[in-house]
Amino acid sequence: MSLTLEGKTCLVTGGSRGIGRAIALKLADFGADVVITYSRSADAAEEVKAEIEKKGRKSKALQADAVSLARAEEVVNEIVEDWGKLDVIVNNAGITKDNLILRMTEEQWDDVITTNLKSIFNYSKAAAKPMMRNRGGSIINISSVVGISGNAGQSNYAASKAGIIGFTKSYAKELSSRNIRANVVAPGYILTDMTGELDEKVLEGIKAETPLGRAGEANEVADAVVFLASDMSSYITGEVIRVDGGMAM
Ligand code: NDP
Repeated sequence: MSLTLEGKTCLVTGGSRGIGRAIALKLADFGADVVITYSRSADAAEEVKAEIEKKGRKSKALQADAVSLARAEEVVNEIVEDWGKLDVIVNNAGITKDNLILRMTEEQWDDVITTNLKSIFNYSKAAAKPMMRNRGGSIINISSVVGISGNAGQSNYAASKAGIIGFTKSYAKELSSRNIRANVVAPGYILTDMTGELDEKVLEGIKAETPLGRAGEANEVADAVVFLASDMSSYITGEVIRVDGGMAM
């Protein structure tokens, strides 16, 4: 059997830039129709949609703040009404608001937990019934190695990313009997706008701590997601796949 996503309908939250963009394009490369959501980058999102359509696949770019359950339900309902079903959700939307615990504000804590963790509850919950009706589905949640190892200055981010792992395993246990799989991809240091804000010294340190000795590319995260989206991973659920050059082993 070769890896194909033909006939599958996928949703990627935060698909306008970075890792989400790479995931959306690669899902389309393997034959999927792909909806992306975004928060503010309408032009970038429209470009991703156009690129997917150029590959001969259907696409939609929907503005949807991932923190809203009501909007998540609207997005999922629109996909099911227009395209008949939803096979795969990649919960990718995420932010950082770094600070040391002593200086961290309540707002920094709440924003990161809500955007990174509640969003995953929102879309996973919204998708559960349509996926049950469809007799299966695959949920792929993007965590981080920081959720496994912790990181000074990122307690809010680490808590959100560790929470994703606990949520995903619980979801997998609840919904496996309905043939709905749920897995986590935990990237290490990947070159995107998010990491572009780190200074040169910090970046060199991260590279030194990575056994493969380099930063990762968004495409390399997308490869793991494609596998988990496909039927090639049909007996894998509740798993955490690190894509981190060995950083957190
Ligand atoms: P970017 O900042 O490059 O992109 C973030 C994406 O998320 C954008 O598409 C953005 O949309 C979207 N987004 C942010 N907030 C919301 C929201 N409230 N509602 C909807 N969409 C939103 O980040 P990365 O690509 O680097 O990160 C993607 C995921 O991977 C995140 O979950 C991140 O935590 C995780 N990750 C990244 C690592 C890295 O090294 N880069 C390492 C480990 C994990 P818009 O363009 O509209 O702002």
